[in-house]
Amino acid sequence: MHTQSPVVKDLVLIGGGHAHVTILKRQGMKPVPGLRITLITRDIHTPYSGMLPGYIAGHYDYDDCHIDLGPLARFAGARLYHAEVDKLDIKNKKIHAPGRPPISYDLLSINTGSRPNSIEVPGVDEFALAAKPIDIFLQKWERLIERIKSTTGIFRIVVVGGGAGGVELALSTQHRLLKVLKDAGQDPTRLHYTLLARSESIMFMHNDGVRKRFERIFAERNITIKTATEVTEVKSDRVILQDGEFMQSEAVIWVTTASAPDWPAKAGLAVDDAGFIKVDDNLQSLSHKGIFAAGDVASLIDPRPKSGVFAVRQGPVLSDNVRAAATGRRLRPYRA
Ligand SMILES: Cc1cc2nc3c(=O)[nH]c(=O)nc-3n(C[C@H](O)[C@H](O)[C@H](O)COP(=O)(O)OP(=O)(O)OC[C@H]3O[C@@H](n4cnc5c(N)ncnc54)[C@H](O)[C@@H]3O)c2cc1C
Repeated sequence: MHTQSPVVKDLVLIGGGHAHVTILKRQGMKPVPGLRITLITRDIHTPYSGMLPGYIAGHYDYDDCHIDLGPLARFAGARLYHAEVDKLDIKNKKIHAPGRPPISYDLLSINTGSRPNSIEVPGVDEFALAAKPIDIFLQKWERLIERIKSTTGIFRIVVVGGGAGGVELALSTQHRLLKVLKDAGQDPTRLHYTLLARSESIMFMHNDGVRKRFERIFAERNITIKTATEVTEVKSDRVILQDGEFMQSEAVIWVTTASAPDWPAKAGLAVDDAGFIKVDDNLQSLSHKGIFAAGDVASLIDPRPKSGVFAVRQGPVLSDNVRAAATGRRLRPYRA
């Protein structure tokens, strides 16, 4: 139950990411009197990233691996705005989202995740299944399942991206599609998979043992790996490679390096070379006190991979620190 204290501070959360889920949960369990929370999020159902590959593979249902932010916001006594922020006005402490009047804040926290870097590659938005935003990916994924069932002959899937996300999606989508074909009484060998990596090996951020293991699994699963290969364009029936060669493809799954939204940098927040918000050990912006960031969108002094695990782990520290900032207490550092 929430006490009706007058609003003293407005904390606005942009994005319903993993770390903000913790803030809402803790506010519901132990409200800070006078702290009003507003959550602005593009998606009301936010996926729990660790379960996504299992969902795609067909092991979980949608509800198993998505958090409904509506009840959680109500539990926290928070206002929930379903909108996509596209501008931040730090001087006037206002947040802009299309179709809404500007939203004021005293304290701000940003947990909006990241997207695969597809901006400069023509055809990705039109023809590929980009891994993020995940809701769009899932819609396209369901359509792909229907398409493969309704076609005959070889069906070539090209997965672009040799990091953990690409490897996971190659394995989980193949698992599901093989089952779909078997269940439909179709020949599963018509499904051909290739994974393209720009780096010299797949999972280049992992150690040799992990890499070898996945190379073996890919060989067992008949997934061809092509390294040192860059896609320069995606067309409806092929991907064009850097040397002008092309590969035929009935579907392309795009899971390349994470990229940042442009509005934090445009607002004047300190960002790293890729546009991610630079934060100190307390997850507070290096350039602006009272603005926090966590998860993929944050760039820590000691960088972490863009992974949901870290967004989850940052949640309790972020929660403590926004509450401390609201009540004038000391912040505490995040230790990975
Ligand atoms: C295919 C794939 C598989 C993955 N598998 C794993 C895995 O197994 N384990 C793992 O730990 N990580 C995995 N990851 C990485 C993981 O998905 C991300 O690291 C994680 O989701 C980042 O969490 P986050 O809390 O920062 O943001 P997100 O979980 O992306 O949440 C961001 C939220 O912000 C909202 N939002 C975004 N922009 C705006 C805006 N402008 N205005 C308002 N709201 C906005 C979104 O709607 C969303 O609710 C995978 C990623 C991919 C692509």
